[in-house]
Amino acid sequence: MKQSVKLIVGNWKMNGLGADLAEALALGAALQASPARARVGVCPPATLIERLSRAVGNTIEVGGQDCHAEPAGAFTGSVSAAMLADAGAKLVILGHSERRAACGETDADVAAKVDAAVAAGLEPIVCVGETLAQREAGEAVEVVSRQMAGSVSDALKGQAFAVAYEPVWAIGTGLIPTLEQIEAVHRAVRAALIARLGDDGRTAPILYGGSVKPSNAAEILHAAEVGGALVGGASLKAEDFLGIIRAV
Ligand code: PEP
Repeated sequence: MKQSVKLIVGNWKMNGLGADLAEALALGAALQASPARARVGVCPPATLIERLSRAVGNTIEVGGQDCHAEPAGAFTGSVSAAMLADAGAKLVILGHSERRAACGETDADVAAKVDAAVAAGLEPIVCVGETLAQREAGEAVEVVSRQMAGSVSDALKGQAFAVAYEPVWAIGTGLIPTLEQIEAVHRAVRAALIARLGDDGRTAPILYGGSVKPSNAAEILHAAEVGGALVGGASLKAEDFLGIIRAV
């Protein structure tokens, strides 16, 4: 299938103080001097969204790492999708495996957050991925297909969004699935999107995430059905992240 422009998104997780904006500024300056062949996004902690989008919003799309499913209310400590958008976010990562594991987020929770994100005009990046035990039991495609069926909402029809396939065992470990394994899951993700959204499911980029580095980015990004990358650790340093962006 013909793929549109790839999407490379950095997930800073709970890393980054004001001083670390220098990395994003360096990235923005490099992309201004020599534009990327991909769309580039950075999802910093919520505290940096506004500063980051003011500083680099013309070259880098800024995003949140989660949002609450409700638009407002008595949810101490939470951030709504509209608040992210108000701070300058264009993207939002939803259903990251760290939140599914640590905060008990279910597929239904993720689908509700997708609805909230779309209502606020954000572009959701819906994360799915199997654990090592599920991979070793030969259940990867089944698990991801089930997560897709539960996490993808009809609200995505006609909307810009992405899916990120992130095997839990590949995140932050240096372990990477084979290209055949990545392609098999990405094909299953595409099939799930088409089954749910019809033709609207044909074009959304399916990102790969998990230990992407400058040294392995090119072969992953050129694999079938890989529409970009979601990058954790290697997105924290401008030089490393640029190495991945330039591999497109
Ligand atoms: C992530 O957490 O989304 C991720 C892909 O992390 P890393 O690149 O560090 O494996």
